[in-house]
Formats: sequence, C-alpha cells, structure tokens
Amino acid sequence: MQHINMLNEFKLIINGQSCLGEAGELDIINPATATLAARCAKASIAQVDQAVTAAKAAFKGWQRCSHEERKSILHKIADGIEKHAETLAELIVLEQGKPLALAQMEVQGAIGWTRYTAGLDLPVEIIEDSEQKRIERHYQPLGVVASITPWNWPLMIAVWHIMPALRAGNVVINKPSEFTPLATLKLCEIIQQEVPAGVISIVVGDGEVGEALSSHPDVQKVVFTGSTRTGQHIMSGAVKTLKHLTLELGGNDAGIVLPDADLDQIANRIFDMAFLNGGQTCAALKRLYVHESQYDALAQKLADIANAQVVGDGMAAETTFGPVQNKLQYDKVKALIADAIAQGAKALSGNQMLPEQGYFIAPTILTGLDDACRVVQEEQFGPVLPILKYQSIDDAIARANASEFGLGGSIWSQDLKAAQFYAAQLQCGTVWINTHAEVVPHAAFGGWKMSGIGAEFGLEGLLENTIGQTLHINKN
Ligand code: NAD
Repeated sequence: MQHINMLNEFKLIINGQSCLGEAGELDIINPATATLAARCAKASIAQVDQAVTAAKAAFKGWQRCSHEERKSILHKIADGIEKHAETLAELIVLEQGKPLALAQMEVQGAIGWTRYTAGLDLPVEIIEDSEQKRIERHYQPLGVVASITPWNWPLMIAVWHIMPALRAGNVVINKPSEFTPLATLKLCEIIQQEVPAGVISIVVGDGEVGEALSSHPDVQKVVFTGSTRTGQHIMSGAVKTLKHLTLELGGNDAGIVLPDADLDQIANRIFDMAFLNGGQTCAALKRLYVHESQYDALAQKLADIANAQVVGDGMAAETTFGPVQNKLQYDKVKALIADAIAQGAKALSGNQMLPEQGYFIAPTILTGLDDACRVVQEEQFGPVLPILKYQSIDDAIARANASEFGLGGSIWSQDLKAAQFYAAQLQCGTVWINTHAEVVPHAAFGGWKMSGIGAEFGLEGLLENTIGQTLHINKN
C-alpha cells in the first residue's frame, strides 16, 4: 500500500467540513486477510439531518450555476481523481479485495464517466413557436439527491450516482456501503475541493443511516444500487413525499450459447464476464445455458480457465482472482455451492490452493444440475457459475426468462442475425451478443422486473436527475 497514508483519518464530510462521526467508528475489514484495515467515522442520525439541511441551503446557489461552470467543475473533479488515482486504487483493493489492475480499471472508469457526464447537455425542446406563442420544455434539477451505494464497485458506482446529479444542478449526499466506505470518502474529499459547502456530503453507516437519509422529507430523489430487498424498502420510504427514484437492483443474468458458437473464441470472454470482480457484479453472467452438443466441451474449457486462476490478495502481483468482499457473502456463496453439490452437481474446478486467511473461494464451474437448484434460482453474487444443458433454443429462452430478475442477458453465436432474433426475446434491460456485462457511459443501463426502475448513463440517465418543466411564453 504505497500510496495510502493510514494515519489519515477517514472522516465524514458535512457542510463542507470533514468531521468525526457522532455514532463512533466503524471497523473496515480487509477481505484478503479478514483483519482490520482501517477505522472510519460513523454518522449519527442527527448528522444525516445536518447534511440534508446543508444540502438544501447549498442547492439555492448550485442550481443557479451556469451549465458551463458545472461542466468545468466536473472536469476539475476528474483531474482530482486522476491525481489521486493510485491512492484510490489501493483503497479499493484494501476494502473490496479485487486485484490491483482491476481496481485501477475502476478508477479509470470513474475518470471516464466523470468527463463524459461533464460533456452532456440538457436539451430544451421547442414544442411550438408561432407568432403568438412559444412553448418550451426544460429540464430542471430536483434538489437534494440521496445516493446509496453497495460494496462491489464502490468508487465507480458512487461516480455513476454523483456526477449526473451534480451536472444537472442537484446537490448530493452519499451513503457508501458500511463495508467499503474508504475510496468513496476520498472521492468526496476530492469533489469537496471543487464545490461550495453542502453541494456534496458523505455520511457513513449501516442500513439505519441509509434509511434515515433515503426517507428524509427534504430529499427529492434517491438513487440506489444494491439488493432488491433494500430497494423495496427504500421505495416504501419514498412514498410519503413522492420522491423520484432510480433503483439499480439485483440480477440473475442468463447467457445462451447457440449450437453454432465457436467455443475457442468465446470461452475466455464468458469466463471473464461471469467472474468479473469475482462474480460480484450486478450484471455478471450468472447462469449459462449451453446446447447439449457443446455442453461438455465448453464446461471443460471454462473449468480449465478457472483452474488457471491465481487466487489471492489483490495487492500481490501474481493474483488474478481476489476474495469475496465480506464474511456474510462468503458464507452465502459457500452454502449455495454445497447445496448444489448435495443435489448431485459436479464442481469441475475450484481445487487450487487458497490462502489460509481471508474470504477466498476459487472460481467454481458447476455442471449436472437443473434449474430448480438454489444456485440457479438465486442471485449468487460470487465466484460460481452453473452450466445448464438445453436441447431447443426456445426452451433455453423460456428458462432464461423464468426469473424474477431482468437486468441483462446474452446470446453467443457466429450468426449475428440469429443472435439478434433471440436477443429480442430476452426479458431484460440490456442484451449483449458475444459479450456480457459491458457498460459504457453513453448507453442507458437499467433493469426490468425486480432488477430495478429507471436507468443510468447517457442522456436518459442525466434526465433522471431532472424534472420536466413546460414554459409557455405569450408573445403579446
Ligand atoms: P445492500 O442492499 O445490502 O446494500 C446496499 C446499500 O444499501 C448499502 O449502503 C447499505 O448500507 C444500504 N442499506 C441497507 N439497508 C438499508 C435501508 N433499509 N435503507 C436504506 N439503505 C439501506 O446491497 P449490497 O449487498 O451492498 O450489494 C449487493 C447487491 O447489489 C446485489 O444484489 C447486486 O446485484 C446489487 N447491485 C446492483 C447493481 C445494478 O446496477 N443493478 C450494481 C451493483 C450491485
């Protein structure tokens, strides 16, 4: 950890000031060692109130800033992230566990997303322009936005929430996951250097702090990324004051490999997209349907790739595969694998030596199971991929769609026309052909069914941070 000064205290930011937590401190655990990595300030509910009051006051000035000014500030924030890139990457490894190269990619993604969002323009629609009258549709900022983020991509997801909200003229209070607040605290410190007091605040704590923030009467919008259950809770807390909501929730994405697929071409990419961040990615490929003619061959190829992974501490140069982020999730994934094996599934991989300490699970390829198995039915959110056999493509599509979730899905084939025909039949917000889980700042991303409401990224994502206002101008 060359760039982290552990003597730094990890403090909250409220009303432009860095401050201690009135609720004491949270222990942050390094998942690679299962030992204490840092202590971080924990906010009280009164501090959540203070942050909202400060945000409300700051909104008055921030919404009047010109678009050009806010664009320029976002670019300065991107410069700040760039300047602290190595520190941010090391903090991500320390608290989240992923290999350093992947954490560095997360930081680069944060910079790219910030710059892209800076460049977006809010449209003004001209609905009528006659001699008598002009009617325009404008998009105004909402006010105080509460951003609640999970532990899998802590920096990236905070950027996805905060930057479009600020760009559109809102003020933001972030609550990071209690498991991974460190990089987000650093991000907010960087943002704070460029914006007036109260425009960005960060309060750290568990679900209680999240609930106080997301149900606060003076919060106009909640953007939440996390589990479906918490999303439902937040939605019910938003009812009283009719808050705007963007919910990016769980997923159980299916991939379907058509019989003509070239296995040598796709095996590595399937592995990468199923085990991205150790499988702890909302839109990772979580169920793979393979035609019976190619089933054994593809399963073996994926197992070979899995067995070649070096599982270990994300800071070690040789590591290609990090730990599960926390003990709860580790226990959950272990139990899902054990349940599948008890039901007759075979683990084709996962035998490599693991470090003795830490929450390590080797990437596990499971075969010989059916769709009723829990590891297929539930979102695993960890390093396991069940491979399921099909005979007819229509049956594979029906099984892929037989999920309460609808985040993403993929079709793998050399025949792009056929792939597109089947892609249109998948019930999910994003469908990939010959890839999976790829997201870009200029294409909207959001879930169907229990995977969410609304979308992020691109103009559509920016507009979710605004409210439409129609302007009628009588010319005489
Ligand atoms: P989680 O729902 O347990 O926690 C997410 C955040 O919500 C944390 O900050 C937590 O403290 C907070 N929280 C908990 N209870 C709350 C409450 N009652 N009110 C307000 N806030 C509360 O999710 P997690 O375990 O951190 O993340 C994993 C989940 O996130 C998975 O289901 C994954 O699919 C999902 N996810 C979705 C996307 C997406 O874009 N769709 C992206 C990443 C992760």
